[in-house]
Amino acid sequence: TAPEKDAKALQVVHMAAEMAPIAKVGGLGDVVTGLARACIDRGHAVQVLLPFYESLPDDQIGGLQHAHDFDCPKGRVWDGVFQTGVLRTQAFKGTIEGIPVVLLRPDWGKCNIFKGSAIYGGSYMPMLYWEAYHAALPQSRIMLTIHNMDNSGECRQDEFAFTGLSGDAFATVDRALDERTIGHNPERLCLMKGGIVYSNIVTTVSPTYASEALTGSAAGWLRATLAKPEVRSKFKGVLNGIDTALWDPAKDPLLAAPFTADQLDGKSLCKRYLQRGLGLKADPEQPIVACITRLVPQKGIRLIRHAIYRTSELGGQFVLLGSGHADGEFRSLATTDFKDSDQVKIMVMYSEALAHQIYAAADIILVPSLYEPCGLTQLVGMRYGAIPVVRSTGGLADTVTDIDLDPETGNGFCFVGIDDASLDSALDRALNTFREAKSRWKQLSRRNMRLDWSWQRC
Ligand code: ADP
Repeated sequence: TAPEKDAKALQVVHMAAEMAPIAKVGGLGDVVTGLARACIDRGHAVQVLLPFYESLPDDQIGGLQHAHDFDCPKGRVWDGVFQTGVLRTQAFKGTIEGIPVVLLRPDWGKCNIFKGSAIYGGSYMPMLYWEAYHAALPQSRIMLTIHNMDNSGECRQDEFAFTGLSGDAFATVDRALDERTIGHNPERLCLMKGGIVYSNIVTTVSPTYASEALTGSAAGWLRATLAKPEVRSKFKGVLNGIDTALWDPAKDPLLAAPFTADQLDGKSLCKRYLQRGLGLKADPEQPIVACITRLVPQKGIRLIRHAIYRTSELGGQFVLLGSGHADGEFRSLATTDFKDSDQVKIMVMYSEALAHQIYAAADIILVPSLYEPCGLTQLVGMRYGAIPVVRSTGGLADTVTDIDLDPETGNGFCFVGIDDASLDSALDRALNTFREAKSRWKQLSRRNMRLDWSWQRC
């Protein structure tokens, strides 16, 4: 059914460094696309403002056209040495996934930003808006959504000057000064702190992560900023959703066969297709444990490694799709202990198509994060009929309830500690349930597929 329209239609501009599927590193890209689409469906006028990275494939941008050029009065330009100066910038219009976008590309004769294959960014916007643009757009209000408090965007005052505004106006403790470095580096600004101070509303991506930021260590030194009464009253955790059009097992063009909660035969076909394709034993009785992740410390790299061994020890199959800092470690596992294995496949790469096929084939989706602002893979996994095994932290705690603690509404298996035995306590139960309680497993899989993780539930 079509979502209801909101009473008041707003003009919404999302400014972000990522947008799925063509400018995606992780969950931020998914959220920008999914949330923009949900806002459009509810009657709002939405645009996404995105860097026109050199790596974006032009042919996947609908109706791409050059809209206009403008001069940034002080850009970071290269004339033999870096300096500030007028930087000509081109604005393009088009659509990504049917969503209107404005793409910005600076003069690459004068600077290198957004060149190369990287997707990146830092958010100066709340600070710039109030100091430079508010007079022209007096009705606008700024909402900052923090996707990960660990990426807090440090910069020096002189670097900030490349935006066209002097950094010293922001270098006070109540604005954007990085308090960690006052003694030895008083020049340093923290863009996330500036964003928090200068935004009308600050959200983060789950209620538990918000409370971990206020009462635990999730925000690090920024906890003091978030806990100030004037910030506390505008700070809230709002659980992420997933884009149920991009992630729809009934219509996903990347799958070997479609399936729904009522008709799970397609899922069995997807499982066989993946097992064959990856050289795993094509056996429906063997559970597939899947993990799709950036390979960075936050994601619990040591626990992922342990889970691979544990699963194969218990006769299950493990499929890892990941890339990041720990590429080398996992590549070497793939070519030593699990070389030619028909139980374990480790794919150190980024592949959107493979990710879809793995979600569809998976019986269990593993997310053993040390911390997790929200986490999307457990949500996508459930939509594709998998049962999550997660560490109860941040958004994982908000979205997965242990089946053994709450048989009525439980949807996965949870653990708390960060040691191998804690992970085993959940993974072993999941593998046992898959083997010993087949009809219960099917019932859980169906129930998980029917859960509503869309943006429309907000
Ligand atoms: P984070 O944003 O911290 O990376 P999330 O769980 O919020 O974690 O989002 C991860 C997103 O990135 C999901 O859509 C997941 O499918 C995708 N993803 C992660 N690693 C890969 C990979 N190697 N190949 C394809 N997709 C990946």
